[in-house]
Amino acid sequence: MMKKREDDNLTGGVSPDELIGKYGSPLYVYVAEKIAEQYHMMKSALGPEKLRIMYACKALSNINIIRFMKKLGAGLDVVSVEELELGLMAGFQPQDIIFTPSMVGPEDYDFAVEKGVRINVGDLEALEYIGEHHPGQSVCIRLNPHVYAGGNEKISVGHEHSKFGISIFHLRDILRLTKTHSIPVEGLHIHVGSDIQDDEQYLRAIEVLFDHALHFPDIRYLDIGSGFKVPYWRGGSSSNLELLGKFISKKRSWLEEHFQRNIEILTEPGKILVSECGVFLTTVNTIKKGPVGTFAGLNTGFNHFLRPMFYDTEHEMLNLSNPDGRLKEYDLVGYICETDNFAKRRKMPELRPGDTVAFLNAGAYAFNMSSNYNSKPRPAEVLIYKGKDYLIRRRENLDDLLATTVDKGIF
Ligand SMILES: *Cc1c(COP(=O)(O)O)cnc(C)c1O
Repeated sequence: MMKKREDDNLTGGVSPDELIGKYGSPLYVYVAEKIAEQYHMMKSALGPEKLRIMYACKALSNINIIRFMKKLGAGLDVVSVEELELGLMAGFQPQDIIFTPSMVGPEDYDFAVEKGVRINVGDLEALEYIGEHHPGQSVCIRLNPHVYAGGNEKISVGHEHSKFGISIFHLRDILRLTKTHSIPVEGLHIHVGSDIQDDEQYLRAIEVLFDHALHFPDIRYLDIGSGFKVPYWRGGSSSNLELLGKFISKKRSWLEEHFQRNIEILTEPGKILVSECGVFLTTVNTIKKGPVGTFAGLNTGFNHFLRPMFYDTEHEMLNLSNPDGRLKEYDLVGYICETDNFAKRRKMPELRPGDTVAFLNAGAYAFNMSSNYNSKPRPAEVLIYKGKDYLIRRRENLDDLLATTVDKGIF
């Protein structure tokens, strides 16, 4: 039996034991109230008036989560036509959705134009295409401000070797194309990375964004992207939102003065809204003594939780079954036939087969990056809302794995 402890509120007051009993392990659990808390915290820190939070739903795109964002008053940032459709299905108005694709073909822009969503264009070729094929269509332009920011190489997307956005060095081309095709530029956007450690870098990028707005007389909104840092450990560092908020508010007043009208500010957070709401509950399969250390093998792997291997993130993990056990050192590893270390030489209360290990900060880019590698089904997802648990995605099974296979019987 797990001990009742403070950590029970990690899963919204419903005991993890009970959740695993009901839905099995491994299991993704999200707490709606935590999302709401983060949403309101952001809103008040960044300046409640004229700030629009567009949830970047690639972080966690279960339709129930998307609907909850709508209930909170958020808009939606979508990066694919499929996410766009999810947003419409969830009931968002087209103008509350911004489509920010990367390197997609013309048919995706046609689709977005037809649906009437805001379109965020990140390359000159797409800008020209829209100008030629959809006269009068207004756009937002994603600038690449050439600011190096982001937690690591894979998630820094604002530098000159990044595929994202139109370089500020191509400003003259943007102006030429929008003039030739009379494209109204209603928004300007930057998004320079995820998990940005250095607030100064973020401020610099925002400054570049505002300064470039002066070139676009039709501007109605500026989109500061996202990349807010969240702590992966309780007590870890996070972005200074108050600092960013004050700066944005100063720059906005300056721009509104210049244009003599209201300018809306958009931001598209993913991680900061949903990272902390999520807990990934797993079970210890086996403990193996190696020549130099001890492995704790969990009933999951990088098929379910890729972040430590892909981004080198270190997530806090708790032994919920034996919280007061003697501290020992483990390599926590997965069951996939790859090197899938979740944590190296991590001190934890003694782990025993059958113990529940909870990964914290498992809401963002966790389930959504899962796969069926090693022919393993994906886990279930549960949402806790007002102390009640709701199954929002059932666990996969072998039939799901075979569902799209066409067995031709050739052999
Ligand atoms: C992924 C993404 C975001 C969200 O970034 P977070 O670091 O999760 O807040 C925002 N905007 C765009 C364009 C993105 O691609």
